[in-house]
Order: sequence, then structure tokens, then C-alpha cells
Amino acid sequence: MNALETRAVHAGRRDLAGLGVHVPSIDLSTTNPLADVESGGDDYEAMATGGRPIPGGSFVYGRLWNPTVARFEDALAELEGSAEAVAFASGMAAVTASLLAMTASGKRHVVAVRPLYGGTDHLLDNGLLGVEVTFAGPKEIAQALRPDTGLVIVETPANPTLELLDLDDVCAQAGDVPVLVDNTFATPVLQQPIRHGAVLVMHSATKFIGGHGDVIAGVIATNAEWAAALRRVRAVTGGILHPLAGYLLHRGLQTLPVRVRAQQASAQLIAEWLDAHPAVEVVHFPGLPGCDPDGVVGRQMAGPGSVLAFEVVGGYPAAAAVANACKLICHAVSLGGTETLIEHPASLTHRPVAAEARPNPGLLRISIGLEAVEDLCVDLDSALRAG
Ligand SMILES: *Cc1c(COP(=O)(O)O)cnc(C)c1O
Repeated sequence: MNALETRAVHAGRRDLAGLGVHVPSIDLSTTNPLADVESGGDDYEAMATGGRPIPGGSFVYGRLWNPTVARFEDALAELEGSAEAVAFASGMAAVTASLLAMTASGKRHVVAVRPLYGGTDHLLDNGLLGVEVTFAGPKEIAQALRPDTGLVIVETPANPTLELLDLDDVCAQAGDVPVLVDNTFATPVLQQPIRHGAVLVMHSATKFIGGHGDVIAGVIATNAEWAAALRRVRAVTGGILHPLAGYLLHRGLQTLPVRVRAQQASAQLIAEWLDAHPAVEVVHFPGLPGCDPDGVVGRQMAGPGSVLAFEVVGGYPAAAAVANACKLICHAVSLGGTETLIEHPASLTHRPVAAEARPNPGLLRISIGLEAVEDLCVDLDSALRAG
């Protein structure tokens, strides 16, 4: 098999030369002509029940199938090492579809390990989908399982504190219960959870995969059985990805390895610089000694990534002042793009999280982009002095 960099460039594109084009066409049809009433019905039935289109048949309707989106799905599956992938209109639509596919199979209970992205935590915790959740520590997953547990949900590195989980251990504890790993922070460049036994690998593709801050999207890499269940939910509930977004994500995959590694190299330098800064109390970054006690980086992850969090001396008022004083670094939620962003998790991304699980109010999260490290440090230094 070719190296990941090579696959990132070519995945989902191998038929293009035969079609006489160099980049994929964008297929915007919302509806597709049917050959006749009988075959049209068969085409519809195949996809509405979660299957792939009948070869040579019609795609019928854009809520069932779109070839531009399917190219991105095939490419992402190739990078994650899964049989298939299913794309959604957002990361949260992807998590929702997983929970609905679980309840459709008769299970009601989820075991989740905190910290999780605030939106995921909120969706699990608020009972909106009729799902019951037990939040367990990383070593308490096995004890928290019930006969009606349908998913174990984890995130590593976790948002926003960059805590790491040993996925071999998580999957061993889960036994027959499928494990869903939110792989948004690591991307398939740094971590491929399917190798460790995960059944579902979820991304907010809004972040690194899109990589340029211009697409909201989600995707789940998984086996054929779950992919069919997810497509069925997607067809019924309508959380599909727009083909223009599918095109941009597929394009984003080509530069994903280069972006992830360049951003990571800068993040390592900035984490070390922040760690030595007198206005900073503690830095959370898996590339710093002490932040990865179990040696996950190297064994499970090919590197620490490019998101880091730090607590400033002076708690909330100081953290707020730093976020407000950044000039080059944009004060905004989201992460994983070419531009460096800073945000205050306790008041933004993790605001809906129950008080006992909410991040420290002195914590700031930065996603390092592609700017020069020196320029970012100058901006952070003046912001830290303002705090
Ligand atoms: C942003 C994010 C999500 C939610 O994805 P959306 O695309 O915003 O719906 C889920 N998990 C993590 C880790 C995220 O950063």
C-alpha cells in the first residue's frame, strides 16, 4: 500500500483520468432521471434502506446519494482504513446519526468518557434523543456497561484539555459494544482508531479535514453494516452534506498531511515557549513531558497535533484579557484551519457542559495555523502582558 501522503493525494480520484478530467466534477443535481418506473423503484429502495446505488442505476434524489460526496467518503475511508464512510452536514449531525442508528437497533444506553466536545457532551446529557448516558472514567468503562449499552463514545486527544486515551484499553474494556472515537483533533494523519479496535471513527470535518474555515461538515468512517445504518438515518432525517462541501473536503484531504505536520511543528515550539512564559501557569499539550504519562504519542499517535490549551496566572479575568488582546491571532471558536485561533472554552465551546465537567475558567485553547511561529509568539507575548 502507498504511503499516507500518496493516498491523501490520489484517494477517490483513480478513475478521473479515464473520465478525461484531472479534478472531480461537482455534481449538483438534486434529482436524477429514472430509466422506468420499476427500475426507479428498485434504485430508490436500495438507497433508502442504507445501501449503495445499484450499478448503472439512477441516484434518484440528492438526499439519498451524491457522487461528489461519495468520492470524499471513499477517500476518507481509505485514509482511516475503514470499509466505508458516511458524510453529514456537520459533526453534530454525524454524532446524532450514530445515536439514532443505535436506538434503531434497540439499544438505549451510551457509556461516554469525559472530557468531550461541549456539543457532544450536551447532546448526550440533555436527553433530547431519548438516550441514557453514563459518564465513566477511562478505567471504569467495563463496569459502566449494561445489556442495553449500544455505544462507547470517547475523544482523544480530548477537547479542550488534550487528555489522551489508550484506545487498545478502551476497546478491550468495551468488548462487543462498538466504540466511537472522535478523531477530529488527531486526523487520520496522526491516529487511525480502527487499527485499535474502534468501529466508528467520527470527524468534525469542519476542522482539519476542510482546513480552511469554509466548510461545516461531519463524517464517520466505519464498517459496511454501520455505514448502511447511518445512510438510512441520513436519508430519513436529512442531515446530508452539500456537494460543494464534499468537493472542498475531498480537496482538503490532499494537503491534510502537509498541513497537519507543519501546524504540529509550530505547535510544539509554541507549547515549549508558553511553558517557559512567566504569565502562564500550565500548558496542556501532548508533546510536552508530563502531558502524556502513558506514552500514547509514538505508540498510538504519530505526533501531538496542533491544538494546545494553557492556563494563565490570574484565572478568568486574565484569560479573558489575553483572548481580548490578541491581534494577529483571531479570537474565534473552531480549530484545525490554516489560521491560528484562540478561544475561552468555559464561556464558549464548553458552555453547555454540566458545571462539574466544565473546563477551568483560566483555560484558553489555541489551534495553531500556518503563520510563522515568531509572529504568533510576538502576538501572544503582548496579549499575555495585557492579561
Ligand atoms: C467541532 C467539533 C465537533 C462538532 O462538529 P461540528 O462540525 O461543529 O458540528 C465535534 N467534536 C469535536 C472534537 C469538535 O472539535
